[in-house]
Amino acid sequence: MRTSQVLIPTLREEPGEAETASHKLMLRAGLIRKVAAGIYTYLPLGLRVIRKVEQIIREEMNRAGAQELLMPIASPAELWQETGRWNFYGKELIRFKDRHDREFCLGPTHEEVITDLFRREVRSYRHMPLNFYQIQTKFRDEIRPRFGLMRGREFIMKDAYSFDQDQASAMVSYQKMYDAYHRIFTRCGLTFRAVEADTGLIGGSSSHEFMVLADTGENTIVYSDTGTYAANVEQAEVPPPTEVSTEAPRPLQTVQTPRCRTVEEVTKFLNISPTHLVKTLLYSTGKETIAVLVRGDHEANEIKIQRFLRATNLELATPAVVEQVTGAPVGFAGPVGLKQIRIIADHAIKALRNVVVGGNQLDTHYVDANWERDFQVEQFADLRSAREGDPSPRKDGTLKSTKGIEVGHVFMLGTKYSEAMKASYLDAQGKECLAVMGCYGIGVGRTAASAIEQNHDAKGIIWPFPIAPFHVHLLPLTQSAQTAQVTEQLYAELQAAGLEVLWDDRDERAGVKVNDADLMGAPFQVVVGDKGLAEGVVEVKTRKDGIKIKLPPAQVAVYLTRTQTS
Ligand code: ATP
Ligand code: MG
Repeated sequence: MRTSQVLIPTLREEPGEAETASHKLMLRAGLIRKVAAGIYTYLPLGLRVIRKVEQIIREEMNRAGAQELLMPIASPAELWQETGRWNFYGKELIRFKDRHDREFCLGPTHEEVITDLFRREVRSYRHMPLNFYQIQTKFRDEIRPRFGLMRGREFIMKDAYSFDQDQASAMVSYQKMYDAYHRIFTRCGLTFRAVEADTGLIGGSSSHEFMVLADTGENTIVYSDTGTYAANVEQAEVPPPTEVSTEAPRPLQTVQTPRCRTVEEVTKFLNISPTHLVKTLLYSTGKETIAVLVRGDHEANEIKIQRFLRATNLELATPAVVEQVTGAPVGFAGPVGLKQIRIIADHAIKALRNVVVGGNQLDTHYVDANWERDFQVEQFADLRSAREGDPSPRKDGTLKSTKGIEVGHVFMLGTKYSEAMKASYLDAQGKECLAVMGCYGIGVGRTAASAIEQNHDAKGIIWPFPIAPFHVHLLPLTQSAQTAQVTEQLYAELQAAGLEVLWDDRDERAGVKVNDADLMGAPFQVVVGDKGLAEGVVEVKTRKDGIKIKLPPAQVAVYLTRTQTS
């Protein structure tokens, strides 16, 4: 393709609206443009990358035995009401009415629609196992769309759904997808890791997320330094402490803690370690307010708390509620004398003696408070986040932590949807059984953005070869007849060798062309100029390492096809 014939609006300046490298570079290299918050147009170069990622996904899904179909973007409310998700999904689900006042939504995911298809069209075990996939635009009205394609509201997803006769067979389907995902992300040139994950709004019994390792990732992953355990911190289990304090209980005392609200302020003021303080957090589920106790140096894990409470919603209580329940402003809540509401606590609390807690009164704390004697706990559970330095819950080492971008997610759904929607089949004995399901998503745009996040430098993008919009950027730097003739010939030869070539045929200065080529990030640049041609050579630059070699034009195609595969 010639640059003059394709819209590639590169930007020299850093776009102010972008925070992450991938977002900045996608805008600067002319891959995408914003239409509204979280809604983008894919420009020609961006679309080429998207299509390549899709193609890799398609090949691996087909190889794993999945069948491609395409479901509608709009789906009727009735299907979502059958599973209860019409209410449960909340504001992320964008809803609308048609001219007859019928309710619809734009699909954020397609369990309902595919389960409906299965129950209508599949009768017998003879047609199972089945795995259907599509590559399609999804809509989620994300609360905070950001980072360009990373977290959009409208985005392209590959979603797949498997239907099996029983749990054992469903595990085989799950494993096939797990393996396919490994191949897909490897082929996309990504450094990633599969981790154990929470099942969130999709539900089901178990799941793994595929995380691209990058500092800008929104997820924290913990993994064993010596073993195989790896999990999203949302999910990572924390076993109860093995050692319990043997301190003798001291009498409960009240102390004044003027203007000390935070853990840091209180521990500094009282000159104690945060491990001897217990935080009391008040949450509202919409149905009740509940107190959650965690150790001062630990972080409450809202996903675990919500799951433990089986709540559909969980938010920190408002200052007004805190004041009403504790009688004190925010910062002084404590379990002693807290009678109106339930109190649950992280396991670590059980092991502590003589702790500092809020006094339920302005500028007041208790010291030497003890569980059972001074306050009651309804239940102890795993309610805090794992962190670096904790022992691995699989006893295979010590946890380390890193940031990750979730590019793919595989779920074992069990019969959650088939039960709600009565998706059954007849087994060999003619008995009606519920299908056991799995579902499997990949964010296409997020995968492309992650590749940039992992492969860029100060000059621009460094595309992994398999998903690069072009393989070779052909850069004639002078206007001579000889340069034109060699460029034209290279353009033809390289394409004949199966390489995708972007020919910068603009009447621009050499520096501008080279800078744009570095920004756009094709794996190879071929520079044609009078000086080189006088010696019978052109220059071939590998974008990744910047290494330049001089070759006679006739050898370039062979060199590039060899280097690409080595
Ligand atoms: P997240 O926690 O990042 O919101 P999710 O758990 O909601 O993701 P899934 O429901 O598992 O995501 O969706 C499958 C895949 O779709 C994700 O692994 C991710 O790659 C992609 N995806 C999800 N939400 C978005 C979004 N807002 N923008 C772009 N891609 C997304
Ligand atoms: Mg989400």
